[in-house]
Amino acid sequence: MDLSNQIERAAADPAALRNAVSGAHIVPLLMSYVHLTGDKSFFERVRPHVQGGWDYQQHIPAELQAEIREALVNAIERLASEGGAVHREPSREELKEMMDVACGADVPEKYLPIFYEETCFGGKDYRAVEWRKPVAKEKLDQFQVVIAGAGFSGIVMGARLKQAGIPFVIIEKNDQVGGTWYENTYPGIGVDTPCHFYSFSQMPNPDWPEFFSKGPELYAYINRIADQFGVREHIRFNEEITAAEYDEENCKWLVHSRKSDGSEETLVANAFVSAVGILNRPSIPNIPGIDSFKGASFHSARWDHSVDITGKRVAMVGTGASGIQIAPAIADKVGHLTIFQRSRHWIIRHPMYHEHVPEAVTWATKNIPYYQEWFRFQLFWAASDGFHPTLRIDPEWTDLEHSLNAENAKMREELIEYIKSELGDRTDLLEKVVPEYPPFGKRMLRDNNWFRMLRQPNVDLYAGDIDHIEEDGIVAGGKKYPADVIVFATGFHASKLLSPMNIRGRNGVTIRELWGDDDPRAHLGITVPGFPNFFVLYGPNTNLAHGGSAFFHSECQVRYIGEALREMLENGWDELEVREEPYEAYNEQVDNEHRQLVWSHPGVTSWYKNKNGRVIMNSPWKLADYRHFTADIDLAEYHCRRLPDEEAGEAAGGTR
Ligand code: NAP
Repeated sequence: MDLSNQIERAAADPAALRNAVSGAHIVPLLMSYVHLTGDKSFFERVRPHVQGGWDYQQHIPAELQAEIREALVNAIERLASEGGAVHREPSREELKEMMDVACGADVPEKYLPIFYEETCFGGKDYRAVEWRKPVAKEKLDQFQVVIAGAGFSGIVMGARLKQAGIPFVIIEKNDQVGGTWYENTYPGIGVDTPCHFYSFSQMPNPDWPEFFSKGPELYAYINRIADQFGVREHIRFNEEITAAEYDEENCKWLVHSRKSDGSEETLVANAFVSAVGILNRPSIPNIPGIDSFKGASFHSARWDHSVDITGKRVAMVGTGASGIQIAPAIADKVGHLTIFQRSRHWIIRHPMYHEHVPEAVTWATKNIPYYQEWFRFQLFWAASDGFHPTLRIDPEWTDLEHSLNAENAKMREELIEYIKSELGDRTDLLEKVVPEYPPFGKRMLRDNNWFRMLRQPNVDLYAGDIDHIEEDGIVAGGKKYPADVIVFATGFHASKLLSPMNIRGRNGVTIRELWGDDDPRAHLGITVPGFPNFFVLYGPNTNLAHGGSAFFHSECQVRYIGEALREMLENGWDELEVREEPYEAYNEQVDNEHRQLVWSHPGVTSWYKNKNGRVIMNSPWKLADYRHFTADIDLAEYHCRRLPDEEAGEAAGGTR
């Protein structure tokens, strides 16, 4: 929307404007004011009170906040009476200064492009595929991309291809879009990243009901992206890609799929993109006696809503990100809840985790120019790279069993204090819940009233291994815990990436032969030598574990893939394949980084590592660095080839 219209709309309802300005977050309001007026006179007074993080709002003195709020209302009303305002692009220096004040930090230059891209600042879509030379329509029409999976990565990939006019089809095994957000319907399901930032940059959502919204909201949001960008009509539902092989002679992928009626089909594609994710094949542990259980049992990602758990004795196995959301959501409903915790997990509080988005914030997000952009960027800053330096091993540090460095040790102490305050008089639980290993070694969980739930009289926590399962309960530590229902919140088969698809590249080599069962590698997590024109979204070493939003990483990868396809089309290349050397070098860098980071800690077992202890899932990089690596494809890292008959018709050589 044009800025003048926005100003006019914001000023049209003075009561609503005042109400929103008085209730919305002060820093985005201040930045809105600075954009609109160029007046930075508040900066010096605000600067000492903002320290990034989540609770910046509270530290700015009330009188100063009132002045800023009043100044913004006046500015909007004045601009409206003068007929509007013109969008002003701040200079790099100005933007950097604004970011520093907004985040209460010396924000490095590398975050400047992120601001523009994440917020589509000034209405510009920085991550779109931009053509640099014309590509004949018939060439585009003949090109075909096959995408596996219609979770949010696949949908965002589709949206970008649609914008660029590149033909594509998405093959989705389910009957709906959404992936994780469709398959997981367990009680309490929600996101751990603030939604105003966990969203597609091209389609911010001002209507999130909660700062950390629940599963159904996210599912609905992904559906809206699919519709708004015209992606849905390209999706073939109830169809699963079983195998794909590269036809070297024609530089095409032959992608084999099976429909729900059992019929099979082979699609021919110039490029094949996997967007299947890594957390979609539930893992139920092979506990002795598991089949003898006579009650209902199911995995967290396959919640059986036909089972009424009201008043029942429920056993929940697993206390990871899923378990921590489930137990507090069902504890009041069940008769008794026994939680089986194999290892302890660190849990952190977030002040906004249970907060509904106030009406004032929603109104400001929709109507006050630049509010949404700055709110998003502030959340990005607070939720992304801040902790990263604290997850690196200090070589001088002596207490490596419990922490990595002074900051990490401090965090450990703060987390323990928090746990103590939540457990209150239930000090007996302390020993069971405080992990030995350093904070962030496993996924850092968000407190969903977990410790308070543990205090409930109908809840028991068993810490240790399960012996076996019997027809009416679980036996652990030699004691039987009767159960009517067992919930397995036991995670996913993540390490066997891309399975069960059988992907066969050059010379008939399969991805399993290259990666084995659990040692996947890719250049930037996206491309693999021997597998030309094949791209992976959410591939090896791209999972974010220090912070950030999976949408952000996905968008980085989607942009990179979009650029690769653009290069193929603009240059008439039929084949684009990453060279061995950059792939090896990149993976060596990844491994070297990981050796110094928390996820390699020997005291930690997690789905982030393979059986040899190599971290295969997580990205070792800051978001800003990964964005930098993926912002422009470096063609020197690729072999590019044109088919011989096409070469014959062209003056220039066909390879590079
Ligand atoms: P998970 O993190 O892998 O946790 C699985 C849990 O099951 C762990 O506590 C694990 O214990 C336990 N377990 C596994 N096998 C067991 C066995 N044989 N006996 C006893 N316990 C066993 O799985 P998840 O909770 O489904 O989460 C997976 C990932 O999904 C998360 O890391 C996150 O990336 C994503 N997720 C995100 C959200 C969110 O954003 N809100 C919510 C849910 C999931 P150990 O720790 O000892 O292995």
